[in-house]
Amino acid sequence: CGIIGYAGKNPAVLVLLEGLERLEYRGYDSAGVALIENGRIFVEKKVGKIRELIRSLWGKPLKATVGIGHTRWATHGEPCEINAHPHTDSTGEIAVVHNGIIENYRELKEKLQAQGIQFKSQTDTEVIAHLISLYYQGDLLEAVIKVVPELKGSYAFCVITNREPYRIVGVRYGNPLVVGIGDGENFMASDIPALLPFTRHIIPLSDGEIVDLRIDSVDIYDAEGNRIVKEAINVPWDI
Ligand code: GLU
Repeated sequence: CGIIGYAGKNPAVLVLLEGLERLEYRGYDSAGVALIENGRIFVEKKVGKIRELIRSLWGKPLKATVGIGHTRWATHGEPCEINAHPHTDSTGEIAVVHNGIIENYRELKEKLQAQGIQFKSQTDTEVIAHLISLYYQGDLLEAVIKVVPELKGSYAFCVITNREPYRIVGVRYGNPLVVGIGDGENFMASDIPALLPFTRHIIPLSDGEIVDLRIDSVDIYDAEGNRIVKEAINVPWDI
């Protein structure tokens, strides 16, 4: 399983697919991407190998320069297209990719369903999309900072919204997430090898850290929303 996010000036889909291929060794049963395409969230996901995803994306004129991608190792809900990530909220304006497990998802799901929210999948992940949607008041980072204390378990996730089309917010809590710094483009992924074709400047996140990633900036926060200054490490080119 693996996650990747890209915000930059190049076609996001190419970066995401190449990064996902480099995460294949972690194992997976399905794969998907979400892109901010013409002001809307576009989602494509497929059961099976990444080449199935590539095949279904083939010929689609995708120009998005911001997006997230996922390879899934199912823990909650069988491997099928509906359960594959990314997952969206009811409006389709928030998309999430997640690795790990939300242990209290049942209780969160019941709470959300009691408010009339309809679930599409059997995953634990979908609660994240709906919760962020519930807390969202125009600032994705603020919404994520409110949602994180409600989530129990072990996870890393990335989220985008077409309402702030230049931005990806990522969280590391028990599952790995690293940030890659480029020139007019930035990345996040489950591990460093996924980013090596694109950049050698890496900031590994620690547990509880949140990254606010934009095309030309990367800001890191602790779980309370205090800004943290972290230096990038340089991975040598001969690796
Ligand atoms: N628990 C999530 C699911 O089953 C994420 C699994 C993963 O880490 O790929 O969809």
